[in-house]
Amino acid sequence: MSESLLPGHPHFAYRASDLFVEGVRVADLARRHGTPLFIYSKSSMLDALAAYQRGFAGRKSKICYAMKANSSLGVLQVFAQAGCGFDIVSGGELERVLAVGAQGKDIIFSGVGKTRAEMKRALDVGIGCFNVESEAELEVLNEVAAAAGKVAPVSIRVNPDVDPKTHPYISTGLKGNKFGIAHERTLAAYQRAASRKALRVVGIDCHIGSQITDESPYLDAMDRVLDLVQSIEAAGIPLRHIDFGGGLGISYDADQPPAADALWAKLFAKLDARGFGDREFMIEPGRSLVGNAGVCVTEVLYLKPGEHKNFCIVDAAMNDLPRPAMYQAFHMIEPVTRRSELATHYDVVGPVCESGDWIGRDRALAVQTGDMLAVMSAGAYCMSMASNYNTRGRAAEVLVEGEKSWLIRERETAADQMRAERLPT
Ligand SMILES: *Cc1c(COP(=O)(O)O)cnc(C)c1O
Repeated sequence: MSESLLPGHPHFAYRASDLFVEGVRVADLARRHGTPLFIYSKSSMLDALAAYQRGFAGRKSKICYAMKANSSLGVLQVFAQAGCGFDIVSGGELERVLAVGAQGKDIIFSGVGKTRAEMKRALDVGIGCFNVESEAELEVLNEVAAAAGKVAPVSIRVNPDVDPKTHPYISTGLKGNKFGIAHERTLAAYQRAASRKALRVVGIDCHIGSQITDESPYLDAMDRVLDLVQSIEAAGIPLRHIDFGGGLGISYDADQPPAADALWAKLFAKLDARGFGDREFMIEPGRSLVGNAGVCVTEVLYLKPGEHKNFCIVDAAMNDLPRPAMYQAFHMIEPVTRRSELATHYDVVGPVCESGDWIGRDRALAVQTGDMLAVMSAGAYCMSMASNYNTRGRAAEVLVEGEKSWLIRERETAADQMRAERLPT
């Protein structure tokens, strides 16, 4: 059996002309569950996690999956069972991770706009750490914790002002971003936190952006964070853990991000050289754990040749795959069953009534109406960002391991979408 592997996508391979996810034929899943359909490879997620685990072997560390990348319960369960903690950014995400059995102490709560109700609920479940993003938030958290008779564990998210060299919408660690506390204000913010009775300082946190494909921003950010750790501890405030956030990129196309283990070998060399190697480390990877573990399978509805452009109209759209419309992002698009005919160039577009509704531009494809296509690298920031625009139900999701597959989310119906609505009488 000849297997031609798709580069950067372990566990996705062609056997003869058919695309497989692990041991399961994609066309079979699409026929059984319909399209658009997200399919995730569990082995691919665990391999991605293993690269981090190798990088952190022998260190005191906790890997907290940043669940906003893909918050489906079936995906969360994979990481909970693998021993991960979770990084959450809302009360809704908190309920999801609790639903798969995560313990409060293994959850860290990030985000610039936590509400009092979210803080209270997180305190009630014994959250591991609040990553606080402003001085105003420190005061509110102190009030909420005091009122609940609790002490809130806090880290301050610092903005190290380094350029992660990624898309501006997913760059978060530059001056002028809404995230974190400015480098110059950090010490004062820590002193404030340390003086509040219902707060307990436990760590420091930074997260500089997403889809980072270069190691230098991480090394620069680490230097700046370690400088801060030194000044905070010199002021008599010990920090138990250092959290370097997430952000490591994946290969969507020609991107060549460093491997997680290789990146961390370099980062630990710096940590050791600066005398911080024995600290407890936390990281919050999202995309790099799930992005290349998923595909979105879509059916070709119509081919529409044109004078300047040919359109390939498919049944997935920007509501399922928002990244091209939002960030001009690139996803590889591969046939589910390869044809031998010559390829034609198409813009692959969805049915939504927006010109921004495109999935791929100028792609060489040998396709006919009724064929299925696999949009690759669809494991992160696709389903978790999906919407109901045009009253399109959200897609179904399947998890695959070896020869086995599980439907982890049913296709959303029109009735599901209308359930919470009421007509005035
Ligand atoms: C989104 C986010 C992450 C994860 O980012 P990825 O690029 O998906 O790894 C980690 N930490 C925080 C605070 C985030 O907002």
